[in-house]
Amino acid sequence: MTRMVRINRDRLWASLMELKQIGAYHDQATGLRGVRRLALTDADAQARRRCVDWMLQAGLEVRVDRIGNVYATRPGRDRSLPCVLMGSHIDTVATGGAFDGTLGVLGGIEVMRTLNDAGIQTLRDIEVGFFTEEEGVRFGTDMLGSAVTAGRIPLEVARKLTDEAGKTVGDELIRIGFDGEAHERRPVPHAYLECHIEQGPILAGAGVDIGIVEGVQSISWQRLTIHGEAAHAGTTPIASRHDAGLAAASVVVEARRMCDSSDFGQLRATVGNLGIGGGQTNVIPRQATLTIDLRNPADDLMTAAEQHLASYAGELAAQHGVRIAWERMAKTAVVPFHPGIQDLLAATADDLGLPYVRVMSGAGHDAQEIAAICPTAMVFVAGENGGISHTPREYSSPGACANGTDVLANAVLRLADQP
Ligand SMILES: [Zn+2]
Repeated sequence: MTRMVRINRDRLWASLMELKQIGAYHDQATGLRGVRRLALTDADAQARRRCVDWMLQAGLEVRVDRIGNVYATRPGRDRSLPCVLMGSHIDTVATGGAFDGTLGVLGGIEVMRTLNDAGIQTLRDIEVGFFTEEEGVRFGTDMLGSAVTAGRIPLEVARKLTDEAGKTVGDELIRIGFDGEAHERRPVPHAYLECHIEQGPILAGAGVDIGIVEGVQSISWQRLTIHGEAAHAGTTPIASRHDAGLAAASVVVEARRMCDSSDFGQLRATVGNLGIGGGQTNVIPRQATLTIDLRNPADDLMTAAEQHLASYAGELAAQHGVRIAWERMAKTAVVPFHPGIQDLLAATADDLGLPYVRVMSGAGHDAQEIAAICPTAMVFVAGENGGISHTPREYSSPGACANGTDVLANAVLRLADQP
């Protein structure tokens, strides 16, 4: 006989609305109040402390590891068994909303409260956690905390990463009081579940609140620095120029052309940073820098896209007489989630009477890192306004958030009772 629980919807919503006050800012572009809680800033530290308070109030055992990931445990009957882990992140981009990452963490805490209220004891320990620097905005590497936990990035490398001001992850962890002692390579969980907003339009388009995620598409981030030659705008003949700005602009246009062609499958390419050094009206740009974010649900087509961009850059360099330096910022392959746990999530949603669709994730998530160490799956929650995210317009309704967290709660309950 499967036990079923329902989370407290109002309590979950109240927590979401409370945490969004931390790091709140007025967004000029939208006129809305957004959330700016970059990893390991004072705002992030304050939000971390609030979450730890909630974890302690729920009677959980809290620990912090050496990369600042925070875990809270609800003991099971047999503590020798690997736990069931829930988690996500509470850091945001500079123009963030109230739901990205936060829903999975506060939802996980709400699951714990719900189990407490129902007086339910589980066979296995249940944990809820949040991972450091998921967004990668401040220190340039996304999913940092979970990647360290999964062993993809060594702790020493992660702690030495710097922000634009030259501050290191390690020093910032110490400064905000989250330089923990627990080993970053945590005990391997029985399973990991992450509830997260979809950040896309598919669920709303299908008229459902719930998505069961089949996997995460491949992500590739690169930084290009183009070295040209500064020269007089009026006297330098067009044919003699080494225009770094022109080469950069050509890369932007080519990236879009690649997406519009059918050669690279469902490629998505974005140049989110584009800068021209010098910045004088009457001087040909000497240097330009840009970042390219590539996404693809197929690994072979991602490789083809990367190779094409590299050869295109080679042609540009020859054509314009510029030098182009590449730096790989991040690369992750397609990560398929555990089929058995996907099916368990589907059965749970069925039992709750909640319709769902199965989807691939367009965004990167901590779950893709943790999938390397234990069976992992994700629940998506529909968003409004086309699922827009990384802007203060990001919004998921109280009902959708609660339904997703109900699926999380009951799936965790089943996993935690597996012998
Ligand atoms: Zn997120």
